[in-house]
Amino acid sequence: MKPHSDNVFTDQYRQAARKGIQNPVLQSALAALQARIGKGAAAAYQALPEGPELRHHAHDIRMKSIAHLDVLLETLADRVRKNGGNVFFANRAEDAVNYCLKVARRHDVKRVVKGKSMVTEEIGLNDALEAAGIETVETDLGEYIIQLAHEKPSHIIAPAIHKTRRDIGELFSRKLGIPYTDDPPTLTQAARKALREKFMSADMGTSGCNLACAETGHIATLSNEGNIRMSTTLPRVHMSFMGMERVTGRLADHDMLFRLLSRGAAVQTMATYVNYVGGPRYSGQVDGPDEFHLVILDNGRSKILADPELREILGCIRCAACLNVCPVYAKIGGHAYGFAYSGPIGTVITPLLTGINPARDLCLGETLCGACKEICPVDIDLPRMILTLRAKLADGDPGWDVTPVNKLEKGGMVAWSKMIQSRKRFDQSLKLARLGQKLLPGKGGMIRRLPPPFNGWTTERDLKQIADESFNEWWRKKG
Ligand code: SF4
Repeated sequence: MKPHSDNVFTDQYRQAARKGIQNPVLQSALAALQARIGKGAAAAYQALPEGPELRHHAHDIRMKSIAHLDVLLETLADRVRKNGGNVFFANRAEDAVNYCLKVARRHDVKRVVKGKSMVTEEIGLNDALEAAGIETVETDLGEYIIQLAHEKPSHIIAPAIHKTRRDIGELFSRKLGIPYTDDPPTLTQAARKALREKFMSADMGTSGCNLACAETGHIATLSNEGNIRMSTTLPRVHMSFMGMERVTGRLADHDMLFRLLSRGAAVQTMATYVNYVGGPRYSGQVDGPDEFHLVILDNGRSKILADPELREILGCIRCAACLNVCPVYAKIGGHAYGFAYSGPIGTVITPLLTGINPARDLCLGETLCGACKEICPVDIDLPRMILTLRAKLADGDPGWDVTPVNKLEKGGMVAWSKMIQSRKRFDQSLKLARLGQKLLPGKGGMIRRLPPPFNGWTTERDLKQIADESFNEWWRKKG
């Protein structure tokens, strides 16, 4: 990423953010999403029989699971194998992709139908399958739309939020050969018909995982469209992908976590379909695959687990509630985040998965308003971790390969810290600054432009001049 001349944000981030801000369709879609789902989720927590404090209990459950991941993952793998399934622990994204390709080749797979999965987005599974000549079809309606449009998701659970009915009508007319319409039920029926044919002829299905259960050896997925059930039951081979953190010990914990997840994600008491899969079809069973594979992905998560300040992020259940209240996400949209995960969760997880320096725009771009923590169904302290990442960018951290972003700024902060620790030094600096500001262009008690390197402060706004007399000076005179 090329740094911008003010040394804060890269040009790439600025341009992507500007594009989002200048897109009226995106702006109105995100405003509607935040007004409806963002506000609704908070009210839904209040209406819980256990009260909104249930979020804190959920946080404890998630953190306990994270603390015992080694045992839980081994138990999960044992149970899945006992159920007749196969388990593969993938250290890196390419290991997961290669495993999938190997299984697909062994079964001479020509077509894969996919249930929605952010992990497969993270590892770039679609591109790899397509490059190997395997047709890969997203079956979640939003994902299907953006796949047809050759775009990337702009929201974790509403991937096509940036598209209008008209866009989708034109897209379906072009790609599915149907007469143009922007009537949502007609468009949905057209997608349903096209996807039904894909489901019936697919050799392999894939899915993500909302949570796995170590106790029973099952993978649970939530959806509102029923497409995941088709992906998991119709093709003869099924492969589920999960980040290694998405496991709980007890099935009893799923009920609480899914009630919270459904409220945070879509203001529902529970998603329409809750699907459990944990192995191939038993003999005599009508539905289900002949072969089941579970891919458990590390891809940098072990390193996060080893960091006591940042491991809390592994408790995230990817509900996207934090996107629905974030004022930055509401303006710049998901594409500006440049990776599979956007919004506040993307701001923390992307730097940890891809490198903190390359993703520094995200860490510096958030407002730290705290809305994300307030709405998170599992009470993840995102603002605290954003501050931790900023501290690493300011001070450097060899453990995470972080080099300080701006040495000048760091020097300035050290000088500032020394200055405010001494009353005498502070008063002298104030007097000096009062004199200095007379040389700057200003009007009506406001400074119009600060000189470099402080000019960023006055690019978009004026700065109030330092008063001729401070409160302390006035108070001392009075006494
Ligand atoms: S951080 Fe919380 S609100 Fe954001 S996606 Fe994760 S669980 Fe949902």
